Amino acid sequence: MTTTEPIIIKVAGPLVVADNMQTAKMYEVVRVGTEGLVGEVIRLEDGKASIQVYEETGGVGPGEPVKLTGKTLSVELGPGLLETIYDGIQRPLKVLEEKSGHYLARGIDADGLDQNKKWDFKATAKAGDTVSEGDILGTVQETTLIEHKVMVPVGITNAKIKDIKSGNYTVTQNIGTLETDGKETPVQMRQFWPIRVSRKVSAKRIPDTPLRTGCRSIDMFFPLVKGGAACIPGPFGSGKTVTQQTLAKYCDAEVIVYIGCGERGNEMTEVLNEFPHLKDPNTGEPLMKRTIMIANTSNMPVAAREASVYTGITIGEYYRDMGYNVALMADSTSRWAEAMREISGRLEEMPGEEGYPAYLGSKTAEFYERAGAVECLGSDDRQGSLTVIGAVSPPGGDLSEPVSQNTLRVTKTYWGLDKKLSYQRHFPAINWLKSYSLYAPNIDKWMKENVAEDYWTIQAEGLNLLQEEAKLEEIVRLVGPDALSTREKLVLLTAKSIREDYLYQDSFDPFDAYTLNDKQYEMLKTILTLFREGEKLMDIEDFDFSQIQGSDVINELADLKLKEAGDVAGYEAVRANIRSLVEGLAG
Ligand code: ADP
Repeated sequence: MTTTEPIIIKVAGPLVVADNMQTAKMYEVVRVGTEGLVGEVIRLEDGKASIQVYEETGGVGPGEPVKLTGKTLSVELGPGLLETIYDGIQRPLKVLEEKSGHYLARGIDADGLDQNKKWDFKATAKAGDTVSEGDILGTVQETTLIEHKVMVPVGITNAKIKDIKSGNYTVTQNIGTLETDGKETPVQMRQFWPIRVSRKVSAKRIPDTPLRTGCRSIDMFFPLVKGGAACIPGPFGSGKTVTQQTLAKYCDAEVIVYIGCGERGNEMTEVLNEFPHLKDPNTGEPLMKRTIMIANTSNMPVAAREASVYTGITIGEYYRDMGYNVALMADSTSRWAEAMREISGRLEEMPGEEGYPAYLGSKTAEFYERAGAVECLGSDDRQGSLTVIGAVSPPGGDLSEPVSQNTLRVTKTYWGLDKKLSYQRHFPAINWLKSYSLYAPNIDKWMKENVAEDYWTIQAEGLNLLQEEAKLEEIVRLVGPDALSTREKLVLLTAKSIREDYLYQDSFDPFDAYTLNDKQYEMLKTILTLFREGEKLMDIEDFDFSQIQGSDVINELADLKLKEAGDVAGYEAVRANIRSLVEGLAG
């Protein structure tokens, strides 16, 4: 018997091929097999559709039906996103667990937003106003930290508000009616955005504000901006996850989207267990009140991993459009690329480098280009930013592999984590000789105005000493330390202090984990005083360097990190001690 109904003809892991799919559209969501697994059409040819399936396909076979839904893969956006942990296709893990227990059953429907919870909506627009997509209709206090802005949904231009009312509503109830050319559209607090296309903006702005992370190495030497993109490559165990999590905890974005594309299953479990208990050091509120998490462990289907970065970034764009600074962490994008490779292989596409699809580069670029500082859609000059920080785990730490290379091409900040440093337990293991940031010109003005006029002089001096140290170490290796001049010894001593007293920072020490920019500047300036003052001793013949090396100021430099940020007099006192030490030695 032949059928004209959509029907499965082949199953290959996460990829299912169905026939009689003439009416399907590209990227349409379909329900696959008798269990109704969630899938997405990713190729259409002669009535046959290749479907990427977001759930395990074991046991699904040819002859089973496929149902079209007419919808593209979208996220449901509205109050209730914050504090939620989702899977790659925005199903709340808690709901999945309630419905199926720890072993994920298949074909489960779970709405992205709680459909029953009532929110206190306060209308800020009024009847008679003319509004378009992106304009704000009203607000909801979503958590103690974030006021949610309810925006005019996609596709509406120059509509007149017929009615709008404040009150307690669920996300599916109508809060008002919009009218365009006599046609009425009821609006709710929720809306749907497709995940694979970037959200329109009024304009892109040049980023001009640092994303302050509290990490001294990052903020001072390799800064990131609000709206920028950064890449953290590093071999296994070098600190990618710890760095991403530390940024999620401390960086001064208002909303955090954390996408965990599991390295190992248990690693994501650690994050899931730990994060809900963390408190925001500034407000004392639970960090989840500003956070949305997307969890993909390695035992979840590969296609859901592929989708998760898009789900996450679309949610990020949504909060950015409210006018917030959003930071998105993706750990690790290599797992995302591997998912792409696996699906591309099943599609029998022509493989590119190392088996990755030829479009790996363009997909990577498209993803990072969704970062940016923007003028949001809407008529009120709202500005927001979306910063993207992607970890990359190159096999064996070899950066010449395609995922690292494609990521480096499109990100302007590079924090290279180093195996050797992490072996030595120098954390964060950011290699200061290889890492870079191209954003310094963007934040030149901000740093001068908000921290210090000579900020960049201090920064450059610090970095130069570290570079000089690397060269001198080579000489020491060849001919031993005795051949060094006083100046060279001073370079080594100061650089050592920069490494040990400034760059070394323990993410797990609540006081040390976060350092304000002012304190970073004071610390580095104080360490550099050793070099600046010490240079006065260079011309003394047969100078006994141990007089500096063994002096108390060296211990004082080691304790700089213990001082409070505002203790300007404390830092100045150490500088004064250095000056008087040198005066004494200079005789
Ligand atoms: P990766 O994600 O690169 O595999 P992890 O982030 O899991 O590596 O880090 C491995 C270990 O290194 C952590 O368990 C922790 O002990 C240590 N570590 C990494 N970064 C830091 C840091 N900034 N401060 C203290 N310890 C760190």
